Amino acid sequence: MATKEQDPKTTEGEEISAPTNFVHEIIDQHNQSGRFEGRVHTRFPPEPNGYLHIGHAKSINLNYGTAMKYGGKFNLRFDDTNPAKEEQEYIDSIIRDVRWLGGDWEDRLFYASDYFQQIYEWAVQLIKMDKAYVDHQTADEIRALRGTLTEPGKDSPYRNRPVEENLDLFERMKNGEFPDGTCVLRAKIDMASPNMNMRDPVLYRILHAEHPRTGNQWCIYPMYDWAHGQSDSIERITHSICTLEFEAHRPLYDWFIDQLGIYHPQQIEFARLNITYTLMSKRKLLRLVKDGHVSGWDDPRMPTISGLRRRGYPSEAIRTFCERIGVSKANSVVEIGLLEHCIREYLNEHALRRMAVLNPLRVVLTNYPDGQSEEMDAVNNPEDPTAGIRKVPFSKVVYIEREDFMENPPKQFFRLAPGREVRLRYAYFITCTEVIKDANGEIVELHCTYDPATKGGDAPDGRKVKATLHWVSAAHAQRAEVRVYDNLFTKPNPEETAEGEDFTVNLNPNSLQVIPACYIEPALAGAEIGSRYQFERQGYFCVDLDTTPDKLVFNRIVGLKDAWAKAQQKG
Ligand code: ATP
Ligand code: MG
Repeated sequence: MATKEQDPKTTEGEEISAPTNFVHEIIDQHNQSGRFEGRVHTRFPPEPNGYLHIGHAKSINLNYGTAMKYGGKFNLRFDDTNPAKEEQEYIDSIIRDVRWLGGDWEDRLFYASDYFQQIYEWAVQLIKMDKAYVDHQTADEIRALRGTLTEPGKDSPYRNRPVEENLDLFERMKNGEFPDGTCVLRAKIDMASPNMNMRDPVLYRILHAEHPRTGNQWCIYPMYDWAHGQSDSIERITHSICTLEFEAHRPLYDWFIDQLGIYHPQQIEFARLNITYTLMSKRKLLRLVKDGHVSGWDDPRMPTISGLRRRGYPSEAIRTFCERIGVSKANSVVEIGLLEHCIREYLNEHALRRMAVLNPLRVVLTNYPDGQSEEMDAVNNPEDPTAGIRKVPFSKVVYIEREDFMENPPKQFFRLAPGREVRLRYAYFITCTEVIKDANGEIVELHCTYDPATKGGDAPDGRKVKATLHWVSAAHAQRAEVRVYDNLFTKPNPEETAEGEDFTVNLNPNSLQVIPACYIEPALAGAEIGSRYQFERQGYFCVDLDTTPDKLVFNRIVGLKDAWAKAQQKG
């Protein structure tokens, strides 16, 4: 995680100013006024009702990064207050993902359910203060009396029942005497408040459901607003950082804590991350999984942390992205191109280069001795001299990319064509002498000659070529499956649909392209799952977990072309 200040440089090396972080400005003020005695203690509070996505990464980075910046502490706390939707699978995946992103909670892994007893006792305290009551209205009736933004609400007929009666009823709610939905506990605040959240919000509902951690111990469960601030208070969180939709809940957060007279954290709201061509709603992501639009939560096209990890996105680059976008109060949509730019920038520095031919065309070097092979020196990473060189075998038959040859090339096409000379990277200059076709007129093979004097890729007579092609020796090539991904949605805003349609109409039918038979250089044999490479001239690729000892499978992480950086340069 971002423990030290990042050097915010673009690929062009031009300095960009560090993004502002208003949260840190607030903390600086608190440190000056002594409000928390200089302490900074944050938390990340996921509800285990789905897998984490890149939006959560922003929150983790902000919470953990802030704690580190100020020498403070960071907790991971599950907001597990709704057993109807929460599962152990989600808890496990969230723990794995936060750790992978670099968040370190040390020994402070907590669950809101750890505090159920305390939160219950605080509810009893509110009842005793005549600040909470048991309401027998149905959910619909409660809604009907709640009023609107322009009209005040009306008091529940149960609002003024005596404290003793409330205490008795609430205890019986807890003891399981009432079926689901028969009554709730509500705070007694103000049905006419201009803030809808203050109109006697529900604190507890009855839910006879088994909880992943507390089993059947409880049949009443606290609502988010009632559990959250109190959990923050118990953990002595200083800055309770959440997304903007909770801004209007802050008066309620403060009200509960003030009524109870307990330790008071500061809630601070920031704008959630949105990215073009990407959905961030857990409910909708769950739909994609459940309806089989993707292969699972970790489908490499998903914006989930597990999907991005499987795709090959490095956590370091995700963190850089989170730093670059900054933290603000204004909602905005970040271009997917910026995320991809950060991924490329990292991989350009760190990924080993390899040659792989995705769409092979056979090339026979007619003047190369039959049965001969030799080893060429190839640079592992021009950005990193310590990565060294490797040997790449070369022989009479090689594969090149089908797109690198044209029989009748237009003016701007500089690659291989009949009669034309090009360079095979790290090997020789070759000249195309003959095009071999099948009965349907399809090109099946090229015949070329090579110039032995150009070994290593340069001509001693200074002769130039206009193109350098990657290649793989046919006799030495390994086969691999390559999966190429595009955006999961066709629209920048996947939610933009016609009346009556839902977001699935915007799914991109071409988001996954499987290339079953690619040829890769032998150095890639046995590449470990999760390892990342640059396939020269193609992009960055990661070994997928579908790989078996007999079959290598690669995901394309991202292509080489950086349209985002180009657009930035043009301004
Ligand atoms: P929901 O509450 O609808 O299930 P959620 O995405 O808010 O979805 P939580 O598990 O409550 O899920 O989120 C945990 C934390 O992550 C919260 O503090 C939330 O504000 C933050 N968070 C969620 N989505 C984003 C986002 N897109 N950008 C930044 N932070 C986010
Ligand atoms: Mg939430």
